[in-house]
Amino acid sequence: MTQENKNLVTNFSSAKYSWLKSGGIISHLYKIYNQIDLSTLFSRYDIKAKSLLVIGNLSNTLIKDEGFKGVGIKLLGDFTNVQINSDHMLVGSAVLDNFLSKFCFQKGISGYEFLYTIPGSIGGNIFMNAGCYNQEIKDKLISVIYFDINDNKVYEKNIRELKFDYRKGFQKTHTIILYGKFKISHGDQKNIKKLMQEYEGIRNYTQPQKVNCCGSIFKNPVNQSAWKLIKSSIDETFYNGPIKLSKTHSNFFENDPYISANSIDLFISKIQKRVKEKHKIMLEKELRIID
Ligand SMILES: Cc1cc2nc3c(=O)[nH]c(=O)nc-3n(C[C@H](O)[C@H](O)[C@H](O)COP(=O)(O)OP(=O)(O)OC[C@H]3O[C@@H](n4cnc5c(N)ncnc54)[C@H](O)[C@@H]3O)c2cc1C
Repeated sequence: MTQENKNLVTNFSSAKYSWLKSGGIISHLYKIYNQIDLSTLFSRYDIKAKSLLVIGNLSNTLIKDEGFKGVGIKLLGDFTNVQINSDHMLVGSAVLDNFLSKFCFQKGISGYEFLYTIPGSIGGNIFMNAGCYNQEIKDKLISVIYFDINDNKVYEKNIRELKFDYRKGFQKTHTIILYGKFKISHGDQKNIKKLMQEYEGIRNYTQPQKVNCCGSIFKNPVNQSAWKLIKSSIDETFYNGPIKLSKTHSNFFENDPYISANSIDLFISKIQKRVKEKHKIMLEKELRIID
């Protein structure tokens, strides 16, 4: 077995691992453990020429039923580590939010309590500029370290040079986010824990729990709440069936496992259409739908 074959998973079922429990197959998913794996893989022209999809914790991604036939990338190994240095933390893209938040609590580092309730990975956070409770990942970032597949090199960009916006982070094409360098500030462990529990409490109260979902379906338009626009545009039928809006939060849907991804996409389009008709506003999807 060649090294490449060891790292390659064929016909990876995104439905099995995604938070939606729905989604097509990734025909070729490469497990990348370190930077050598990356440069070896992308030194191949046939690989470089294909379209790229990096997956994190699949909490904000839906792959359509036809599947993804390009090069899928899953970071593991070196990218699952957190390293504390004198003035920053180096966090691998594959580190999960909940893990980092708990890690920071243990080390008495404050400011990462909000990540306790987001089910993504640091790479996905940096891509999306994820956030909640008036905090975003960009507020904590010093720089992003990424791999550029075109020139097969690793670069570092300071957050000041990057134009992060609401749910729009590092979305440079042909790149793979490897690490984030994050700020460190120390706090009282008791206060850190209290805030984590407070955020968890709010989440449990305001959002559906233990269901297949992707978090918010749409971004909030400027000075508007997507859930209010949705609630005022649709009828009761949207709250029933195998894909239905959540009664707890109208910008969330819940779906039966292994339901067709294309039918979820269609459901989302129907909501968009209703809101457009009623409010003349085209809601922008937060969920990443991959063709
Ligand atoms: C129950 C629930 C609650 C949620 N609450 C919130 C919330 O409060 N706030 C919020 O912002 N989001 C929330 N989300 C959405 C989601 O958790 C975030 O968008 C998160 O940042 C996605 O991370 P992920 O690792 O799951 O990314 P994935 O879904 O795997 O990927 C998302 C995008 O990032 C890209 N990507 C991932 N890793 C990399 C990488 N290393 N390099 C390049 N591109 C990469 C993918 O290609 C894809 O386009 C919620 C989701 C769920 C299911």
